[in-house]
Amino acid sequence: MDYIKFVGTAGARFVVARQVRASGGTWYCLAGANVLVDPGPGALVKCLASRPKLDPSKLDAVVLTHKHLDHSGDVNAILEAMTDGGHRKRGALFAPPDAIGDDPVVFKYVRDYVERVEELREGGSHQVGELRFSTPIRHQHSVDAYGLKLHLPDLDISLVADTAFFPELIEAYRAELLIINTVLLEPPRNPSIQHLCLNDARQLIDGIRPKVAILTHFGMAMIRSRPRELAQQLTEELGIETIAARDGMKFDLAEHGLTADDDPE
Ligand SMILES: [Zn+2]
Ligand SMILES: [Zn+2]
Repeated sequence: MDYIKFVGTAGARFVVARQVRASGGTWYCLAGANVLVDPGPGALVKCLASRPKLDPSKLDAVVLTHKHLDHSGDVNAILEAMTDGGHRKRGALFAPPDAIGDDPVVFKYVRDYVERVEELREGGSHQVGELRFSTPIRHQHSVDAYGLKLHLPDLDISLVADTAFFPELIEAYRAELLIINTVLLEPPRNPSIQHLCLNDARQLIDGIRPKVAILTHFGMAMIRSRPRELAQQLTEELGIETIAARDGMKFDLAEHGLTADDDPE
């Protein structure tokens, strides 16, 4: 059974620092592979406290879309858990070069526990068991950052991670299921804040026209403005089912008419 579980939906410094929302990242169980993307602060605790439990020792891979703390705070703890404290060399880590190069966020000794470490780059493609994913385009963010496109037999799932908006995102992330890190309610006044706002999410959804869109990774103004209601407005406006992720929300692909594969996993 293919599903996506939103372990945490926090997206900006205050939301993470005060844990207004959890910052545990997103767990993808697709095509028989278990992949945790962006394990921010609290990911290990949140996975283990999840009902049913998400067991990090069952992970096949961890992906960092980029090195910022809200995406990587628990990466070492999760990788140790994935490898039974380093006693069982297994699994894969995917991260941009600057997350494992100078001033790395993944300790070198922890990287040694993992069976394979692959660097993300524009146009790159990676395999985790039966699941293939690609990183179509380099994002506009203050560090090396990429979104993901997960390729299932019958559909693609795009995760547009942290970035400023630019039109090429629309072609890069065409998919049936579109997940968008919607940090900001309003466009940033300061262009150095490279994040998507609600109107950017609207443009992406309208340009891509997926079957379902999910907003996540919210900053404070988004949370105060009730993401559920904002998503409902987008649904009505664009005619595309748009969902605001909640902490612990499990999104079952089949329940939303997104059949991934026939394998009764
Ligand atoms: Zn972020
Ligand atoms: Zn970031």
